[in-house]
Amino acid sequence: MEKTLELRSLGNTGLKLSCVGFGASPLGSVFGPVSDEEAIATVREAFRLGINFFDTSPYYGGTLSEKVLGKSLKAVGVPRDQFIVSTKCGRYKDGFDFSATRVTQSIDESLERLQLDYVDILQCHDIEFGSLDQIINETIPALQKLKEKGKIRFIGITGLPLGIFNYVLDRVPLGTIDVILSYCHYGINDTTLEDLLPYLKSKGVGVISASPLSMGLLTENGPPDWHPASSELKAECRKAADFCKGKGKDISKVAMKYSLCNKDFSSILVGMKSVQQVQDNVAAAMEVMKGEKDEEILVEIEEILKPVKNQTWPSGIQ
Ligand code: NAD
Repeated sequence: MEKTLELRSLGNTGLKLSCVGFGASPLGSVFGPVSDEEAIATVREAFRLGINFFDTSPYYGGTLSEKVLGKSLKAVGVPRDQFIVSTKCGRYKDGFDFSATRVTQSIDESLERLQLDYVDILQCHDIEFGSLDQIINETIPALQKLKEKGKIRFIGITGLPLGIFNYVLDRVPLGTIDVILSYCHYGINDTTLEDLLPYLKSKGVGVISASPLSMGLLTENGPPDWHPASSELKAECRKAADFCKGKGKDISKVAMKYSLCNKDFSSILVGMKSVQQVQDNVAAAMEVMKGEKDEEILVEIEEILKPVKNQTWPSGIQ
């Protein structure tokens, strides 16, 4: 496969992200065990096929994802200015802590695990679980200091309920937040993030859409046990996956293509843990770049998923 994966600008950051981003939570064995050898081979294949954006968090696998990603990046040995790494702060295996003290300490721990001198983006992780006013008044100012020190280049916020983004962006000076990462809100079964795009554009933030496979709902293997979706949503997605299989199509590829078609998202961040998955997801992007669409089967999948369209699950205190 040729290395021509599309790059897209991330808001006003000047960064250009590969349209397929590498979600590294699976490297923390969150979706089943992954050996170091598999992880390194997967990251190597990602680079080979043009992926330049890697996202992790100290929370994923209780720091394991950061460690394994760091080890893999080192093993592959691509020069530091040729890839973009985002990690997060405030959410840890033992709970949430968005205090200035904790997030300031957290970045040093992350850098050590990642074996890096800086990260490109540091994001406050799942802010709906904390106090949004603390994020605005304490966490973001602490991250601005980290920016001045050169430990991070850009600041982001992440979470599930879409209302958190307006709440924070309405209360900080323009340009304070560079990036938002939303997950499970732009895929075949849920497109609610689309409605927020004009607002996010007006705020000049880059938008990363994560979990195009709805954290495993839109895969042939189905979601992991911990998946928070209702049994109804799981059942309808199962039906859709089986329907696709019956038609000789892989629902994950159809779902990747669906998300990738919207170019307002700088990167579609998908969790990957094997060389095969990297190849399949990049192949989906290549088909989109060639204008190959799945219009017919999409209509049928959307019909199956109609009863659960935009159904989400509770998260945090919002
Ligand atoms: P996802 O929707 O990307 O699904 C990941 C699952 O799909 C894994 O089991 C993976 O092995 C599997 N998969 C990947 N490609 C496949 C393919 N081609 N065929 C079949 N199965 C395939 O969910 P995710 O991993 O949770 O989300 C992607 C990334 O986004 C995460 O790794 C993380 O970096 C980020 N994220 C961030 C937040 C947050 O900040 N709050 C939340 C969710 C995700």
